[in-house]
Amino acid sequence: MAGAVAAIVAAEESARTTLVEKGKEPEGNTWVSLGGISCPDDAGRAKEYLQSLFERSHSVMDEKLLDVYAQMSPNNLEWLKQTGKSIGIDVSFREYGKPAYPDHPGAETMHKWMTICRRKSSVNGLFHILSNALADRGVSVLMETTAKKLLQDKDGQIIGMTLERGGRDVNVKARRAVVLATGGFQNNDDLIRNFSRGYPIYYGGGPGNTGDGIRMAMQVGADLWHMNSISCAIGVKVSEYDVAFRFSLPSIHHDYQEGPAWFLVDQYGRRFTNEMGVDVHSWNLVLDYFDPVKEEYTRIPSYAILDESTRKKVSLVNSRMGWGKKTGYRWSADNSREIERGWIVKGETIEELAHMISITETNRGRMKEERLRTTLEVYNSYCNEKNDYEFDRPAECLKPLGEAPFYALPLYPRLLNTQGGPRRNAKAKVLRPDGKPISRLYSAGELGSLWGMIYEGGSNLSECIVTGRIAGRNAAREKAWD
Ligand SMILES: Cc1cc2nc3c(=O)[nH]c(=O)nc-3n(C[C@H](O)[C@H](O)[C@H](O)COP(=O)(O)OP(=O)(O)OC[C@H]3O[C@@H](n4cnc5c(N)ncnc54)[C@H](O)[C@@H]3O)c2cc1C
Repeated sequence: MAGAVAAIVAAEESARTTLVEKGKEPEGNTWVSLGGISCPDDAGRAKEYLQSLFERSHSVMDEKLLDVYAQMSPNNLEWLKQTGKSIGIDVSFREYGKPAYPDHPGAETMHKWMTICRRKSSVNGLFHILSNALADRGVSVLMETTAKKLLQDKDGQIIGMTLERGGRDVNVKARRAVVLATGGFQNNDDLIRNFSRGYPIYYGGGPGNTGDGIRMAMQVGADLWHMNSISCAIGVKVSEYDVAFRFSLPSIHHDYQEGPAWFLVDQYGRRFTNEMGVDVHSWNLVLDYFDPVKEEYTRIPSYAILDESTRKKVSLVNSRMGWGKKTGYRWSADNSREIERGWIVKGETIEELAHMISITETNRGRMKEERLRTTLEVYNSYCNEKNDYEFDRPAECLKPLGEAPFYALPLYPRLLNTQGGPRRNAKAKVLRPDGKPISRLYSAGELGSLWGMIYEGGSNLSECIVTGRIAGRNAAREKAWD
């Protein structure tokens, strides 16, 4: 998304523009995302809201960049609409979702939208608009071409790149500038282990995001920021597939009036959070707890514990979301196929369930029958009193587990995307540690995102449009060096 927007805008500024993608098809996050775009309706209130999230998280904030984002993001839908119109594509939008943190000032302005375009899903609609606009603007798109290295002259300015194509390295001149838009590093195990906590973490987004842009930018002297900020859901990982599937229960609020009847426990059978209160992008902050006494991540995997009524009523996984959809696997509506496969653990009683969990490869005896039984009894008593004394789960979704058999679904951090990377300024220029820009080097999108530890859903794609536009325009307006 960020690369496409930057290329479209640069070409509109009359620059000869090439977009390089290492996959046969785009292998990043955009094309498996939900396609939701944040488009606030008041720049001032949007800034208040986003600033308030930074204050709460203590993540590093660049006020000028935030100002530019707040001013430009209310125009996101209009930009998409006009881009569509210029190539004869009708684009409209449907509002969805709510601000993730409604108590922060300015929350009322944080609207989120899905793109509607020729009956396609939101994200396929976006793809349709952008790919047609790229062709229309004459951008040459090189697939299966990997950017390997930035080339600098003796003064440190960026003058081109080494690209690998068909097994050969080619040095390509960039007369005006290079825009890096290689996404994040969710599929680089080394970077993940260096910059975030929790193990194992499985990917839910595109496999192409291996932090290449971070390495390239570091080699030419870039500063880094937001490396500890990741957008991480909770998901299901089975040995047959590399990718983590999307766990449905926390967000879908099926039958919200009454439940659904389930709770979450750690490896030892203890509850540890308000299961219905965690924003879908923040699960790592709950799951990455490392117990220094036991010397282990006691919440990886965790287990969703549920009863027969929930099992029959709710499909626990939506396997059509994220990169999981590429596997073609379809999770059964009543979860029966996955019980047969052994992906969901079953017990005729809660004690038997604890025993069955304890003999799994990942638990190895940690789960004790009396602990899980006590957790169930205490949780059910909270449901009866309509008061979760420990974690404040809302009364309307406190539904007791009753009907046997009981089930446990192992759950892992499901990494959607990372935010960190080379630091950029309000002109989308990549900065060195001394705050000075690296000449002729720009970045856009998730690579070195402006977002910190608390993230508002829909803001990554929104940032792709905003920073893609800035980077594309400024890169094209650089004076050619030859
Ligand atoms: C399941 C899921 C749902 C999401 N839903 C939303 C949502 O609804 N709203 C929202 O705002 N955000 C959402 N996100 C986050 C959002 O999708 C990403 O932050 C955003 O798409 C990043 O876009 P990008 O253009 O910066 O990078 P990407 O779309 O990830 O693209 C980067 C591209 O660079 C390519 N690349 C990498 N290295 C190289 C190299 N060396 N040479 C050449 N090419 C290279 C990759 O193959 C990839 O295609 C979601 C993420 C996931 C995983």
